[in-house]
Amino acid sequence: MTTHVTNEVSFRKSVNLTVEMAIATLDLPEGLAYYIESVDNVYQIRFPVKIKGKIESFIGWRAVHGEHKLPVKGGIRFAPNVNQDEVEALAALMSYKCALVDVPFGGSKGGLAIDPRRYDEESLEKITRRFAFELMRKDYIGPATNVPAPDMGTGPREMAWIASTYKAHKMDDIDHMACVTGKPVSQGGIRGRVEATGRGVVFGLREFFRHPEDVKMAKMEGGLEGKKVIVQGLGNVGYHAAKILEEEDGAKIIAVLEYDGGILNPDGIEIEDLAEYRKNNKGIKGYPKGTYVEDSSTLLEEECDILIPAALEGVINQENASRVKAKLIAEAANGPVTFGADAILNQKGVVIIPDAYLNAGGVTVSYFEWIKNLSHIRLGRMQRRYEERQNAELIQAIEASGTAVSENLRKSLLQGADEIDLVRSGLDDTMRMAFQFIRERYWSRDNVSSYRIAAMAIAVEKIANNVMEQGVYP
Ligand code: GLU
Repeated sequence: MTTHVTNEVSFRKSVNLTVEMAIATLDLPEGLAYYIESVDNVYQIRFPVKIKGKIESFIGWRAVHGEHKLPVKGGIRFAPNVNQDEVEALAALMSYKCALVDVPFGGSKGGLAIDPRRYDEESLEKITRRFAFELMRKDYIGPATNVPAPDMGTGPREMAWIASTYKAHKMDDIDHMACVTGKPVSQGGIRGRVEATGRGVVFGLREFFRHPEDVKMAKMEGGLEGKKVIVQGLGNVGYHAAKILEEEDGAKIIAVLEYDGGILNPDGIEIEDLAEYRKNNKGIKGYPKGTYVEDSSTLLEEECDILIPAALEGVINQENASRVKAKLIAEAANGPVTFGADAILNQKGVVIIPDAYLNAGGVTVSYFEWIKNLSHIRLGRMQRRYEERQNAELIQAIEASGTAVSENLRKSLLQGADEIDLVRSGLDDTMRMAFQFIRERYWSRDNVSSYRIAAMAIAVEKIANNVMEQGVYP
């Protein structure tokens, strides 16, 4: 897929300009705004790894944006073009994201400049372990200080290697499992983490569609059922969001954009079928149930209700924004709409549900995983059977009074909450509450021009209050 970025500020600058617009709606003490915007520290590391007898050197970063709360939190990205500006922008977004959804972490992000597809598993393990060790050595990984997670190009496998590296060096740290999240369930991970960002996107959209006033603003009506959706990027986030929207909400996924082209089918694409095809054919080219479009970026401009950019930053920019026909843009990726494009879209009346809110499902469930690791017990383990027994007694009492309990109600009452139920319920609650705060801020203040500014203003305000209440050391 090609993107044509013209005359755009950097990703970091783009985030800062947005934050400055949000700050303009607040009344912050002098100097504090500048501190909040700025990255606290960033570590750049170059290290060698012997791959198949040859020495290769790698460069990576870990940026820390807000240490007002510890640990700081955020993924590690493996991508060939990752750079310090990008990592800093992403670290800043993590701070705002955590504040917005009340996850008690500061923000951080890591990146390693590598194309993971060029390496076999053994080499990737060596590289990941070495990177993790270098970060650990400088206190950029630790359960109380800085807790990485998956991001683009990394997943549960890499997180397991990071956890194992940390454990090997810190065997006496009883909380070693909490040094990283997004691990496989067998390695201390939590059920529902893999789907969390995508499911969070859907929970956010469901909440949006619960507010007719907001839906009307986006020139739509009704719920998600039958809505025409375009998804850019069928990675972990895009895949889960699209699959859940199609299977659980009855939305119609009319186009999917991937790096090797796009598929368009106005009658709807079955996501699982397409994902299966992609797995077997190493790409979506040739998928028979739809029209193949080689330059998939043109599909961003197709008529639809909801456009979900779920891959890279900057895909909707000043060059193509005026041609976007979606009514609602749901930012599943971080920074998919540039600062310049945001202004164009706002003027056109396109409603945008911003990244800092909409993709916060990943870090929310990471928080649940971190708590699970620190408490050393699976969520629901203590109370599940107890709840089932209590509910059984309740049903008995109701029936003894002569009232029948329906089969469906009986089934749901007799099923105590398991880990996955609790994770989904906690995530749903988080996404609903945060959206309600954002829309409330948007509708109640004349100087707040979009959900994005509302979200950023809430986040900055919370961070500012936190910093002020703690006082400034020394
Ligand atoms: N990389 C994800 C994000 O950008 C998840 C971060 C985390 O779970 O810490 O939000």
